[in-house]
Amino acid sequence: MVTTPLPDIQVRQSIIDACREMSALGINQGTSGNISVRTDDGILVTPSGVPYDSMRPEDIVAMKWDGSWTASPGNVPSTEWRFHLDILRSKPETSAVVHAHPIFCTVIAIMNRPIPAIHYMIAAAGGNDIPCAPYAQYGTEELSRLALIALRHRRACLLAHHGLIAIGPNLRKALWLAVEVEVLAKQYHGCLQLGTPPLLPDDEIDSLLKRWGQYGLRDGSSA
Ligand code: 13P
Ligand code: ZN
Repeated sequence: MVTTPLPDIQVRQSIIDACREMSALGINQGTSGNISVRTDDGILVTPSGVPYDSMRPEDIVAMKWDGSWTASPGNVPSTEWRFHLDILRSKPETSAVVHAHPIFCTVIAIMNRPIPAIHYMIAAAGGNDIPCAPYAQYGTEELSRLALIALRHRRACLLAHHGLIAIGPNLRKALWLAVEVEVLAKQYHGCLQLGTPPLLPDDEIDSLLKRWGQYGLRDGSSA
């Protein structure tokens, strides 16, 4: 019997590895969160509700730009496929989307607050804050619409009463940013215990952004 090799097997495995890393790093739990990566004709996205420990490359769902998809028996795309598809479709410089429910990001998102410029690493997300998209139900077109607005000039945003989205030119950088934003959320939460934190001024953020370039994770890629 001739079996067709699974396309994009290495990308599929890298998605699974990143999902397991999210759990190991403590930025996600259970089957929450999802990850997608751009392919030649659409996206690869995690299946809905499959535990990361038992996820296999064939479980990852291939989706075309029109939203049509093919999956192995029993699997459906992540309920959040809309924002994954919409983000990757509308941001050509982005190749990976990481969504998780990290505890401190979610605490700040429950309070419906952005993370302000408490630390210079805020610039890693592309501006002077990590905005918080207003609440919309998980898996809806409305959530995707609101997330896209929050990500218009940023590489990360919070989702009110829900969690975090971080994006990047590749999966390593998107995952790195997700971890950095959770650290910022933790720092902000700590500051709030002591009072109202002083913030870096906008002209300092502008200056940081001008210098930023490849600052941050160096993973050997030019992206
Ligand atoms: P899925 O298992 O469908 O990807 O859902 C997890 C999640 O975080 C929904 O927002
Ligand atoms: Zn979620």
